[in-house]
Amino acid sequence: MEVITSPKDMQKKAVFDFHGQTGFVPTMGALHEGHLSLIKQARQECDTLVSSIFINPTQFLPGEDFEKYPKRHKEDMELLKTNGVDVLFLPTPESMYPDGFNTVVIVSNITERLCGLIRPGHFQGVTTVVLKLLNIVKPQRAYFGQKDYQQTLVIKKMAEDLNLFTEIVVCPTVREKDGLALSSRNQYLNPEERKEATLIYKSMIAVKEGLVTKQLQLSDVPKKLAKILESGTLKKNIQYASIYDPSTLEEIKDNSFKGNRVLIAIALKLANTRLIDNMLINP
Ligand code: AMP
Repeated sequence: MEVITSPKDMQKKAVFDFHGQTGFVPTMGALHEGHLSLIKQARQECDTLVSSIFINPTQFLPGEDFEKYPKRHKEDMELLKTNGVDVLFLPTPESMYPDGFNTVVIVSNITERLCGLIRPGHFQGVTTVVLKLLNIVKPQRAYFGQKDYQQTLVIKKMAEDLNLFTEIVVCPTVREKDGLALSSRNQYLNPEERKEATLIYKSMIAVKEGLVTKQLQLSDVPKKLAKILESGTLKKNIQYASIYDPSTLEEIKDNSFKGNRVLIAIALKLANTRLIDNMLINP
């Protein structure tokens, strides 16, 4: 596996050395099986596989965990190598945002809901860095996880609106045995918090079963989610927990919603750890 740190060198390599289909998996590192599922799918579907590790400062808000975000470059490199990555792009913040950097990419509407309300400016950081990465790596296919559903929607919209060449591929969420979605942030949880974090998955499954068996109406979903999330012994700060139109992210409030699929999405803080998860269902 070749490691490239300079954006210019990476771009040159992409233009002059790559043949066939290039697949790209951008990450912030501290890799787990969720990341590796994207890498494995991309490895099967592409000729050349590039991954990046870049903890993008512009997508963190002041007071968030940018400084303490887990860094495990050595272990990550080993994992990428054994999973068939050809090139790791590992830029520094200074090389991605040199003095005088002055451009942002903003997708409107869908970024103004859910995480966009709780983390204003976050998606602007994401779209700007993802467009930069796609311009540097020039992949035919870029792989993202459904775990960050709103992020996939925002990136797909950017790709469509700006006529990007790259196809955005969304891969299923990988979970622990007890249902907790894998996340680099799970390591912040103490054992008690880790146990209560499973309520997120349990609440989504309960709502899914309720809707599918028609025992639960769409308008009852927020109450049902809140009841399960608030059970247990720890106090949780629920930022959102409801059902949404999967394409607009508008909250579904009445029972006459006619779409085929609905999105259950949850964000909450357990002590200082922010967790998000979602599930697409066909009620
Ligand atoms: P991150 O390092 O958190 O920026 O994540 C890099 C990519 O991995 C993003 O596309 C995430 O959506 C994806 N990802 C993170 N956790 C999971 C998971 N549990 N299952 C599937 N994909 C994931």
